[in-house]
Amino acid sequence: MMRYAYVNGQYCRHGDATIHVEDRGFQFADAVYEVWSVRNGVLLDADGHFQRLSRSLGELRIPMPRSRAALMRVIKELLRRNRVRDGLVYLQVSRGQAKRDHAFPRHPIEPTIVLTCKRLDFTAADARAEDGIAVITVPDQRWARCDIKTVNLLPNVLAKQAAHEAGATEAWLVDGAGHVTEGSSTNAWIVTKAGKLITRQADNGILHGITRSRILQCAQTLGFDVEQRSFTPQEAIDAREAFLTSATSFVTPVVSIDNHPIANGKPGSLALALRQAYLSEA
Ligand code: PMP
Repeated sequence: MMRYAYVNGQYCRHGDATIHVEDRGFQFADAVYEVWSVRNGVLLDADGHFQRLSRSLGELRIPMPRSRAALMRVIKELLRRNRVRDGLVYLQVSRGQAKRDHAFPRHPIEPTIVLTCKRLDFTAADARAEDGIAVITVPDQRWARCDIKTVNLLPNVLAKQAAHEAGATEAWLVDGAGHVTEGSSTNAWIVTKAGKLITRQADNGILHGITRSRILQCAQTLGFDVEQRSFTPQEAIDAREAFLTSATSFVTPVVSIDNHPIANGKPGSLALALRQAYLSEA
């Protein structure tokens, strides 16, 4: 089956989709992105991801390249052409193409816009949630504005690779103060022995996950006790449960951290209840 991408106003064959060598996203990671999960042809948490997209662009002073309605039309058409009902949509907007120079171009340029989508096997994600996953911890080597969803992902790439080489699925990043910030592509949560849900406060040290906010709402609806604060890897190892959240993995229980089992080494009941609550509303 032919795959399609969308680049600067054109639908093209995925294999032929290109951007200019002097695109500032390619040269400087001067670009932001968003990822939506698609289930039964519907974008999950569409509003939240669009709002974060405008915030990320605003923080970097890149103009919003299309209205939300226009973007939605492109997304729908791309999903249709690629016959994706369950999967993800990826959107990247860079400042645009200009002669290579670190400072912003003096004259306004058109942002570059790229959209792709792909099918995802959510049954594999369900299986991962049933078994739980292993996590390692690594130093957080990122910059001070992790709240902006930029394509500047090299430290995240290296952390994820370290996790895979250690036989784990995700790496939790630990800041200079010895606290977990988040995962390389997920937000991090624990449940204390007293049954309190803990996730880091939404400061500049983490991406403000859209799934994270939805899970905070689900937790409130279910009457769970929640505190938004930092925690250490040791606190996570001693916790009753640990889990992570993201648009494509929803809620995934963590059953070991740095090879230490969490509680009995099985997925925790709060994590599974939150996963179910999130998916039943999705
Ligand atoms: N943290 C990081 C570093 C991420 O890249 C992501 C998204 N992939 C998340 C957290 C989760 O955010 P969301 O729930 O919006 O997918």
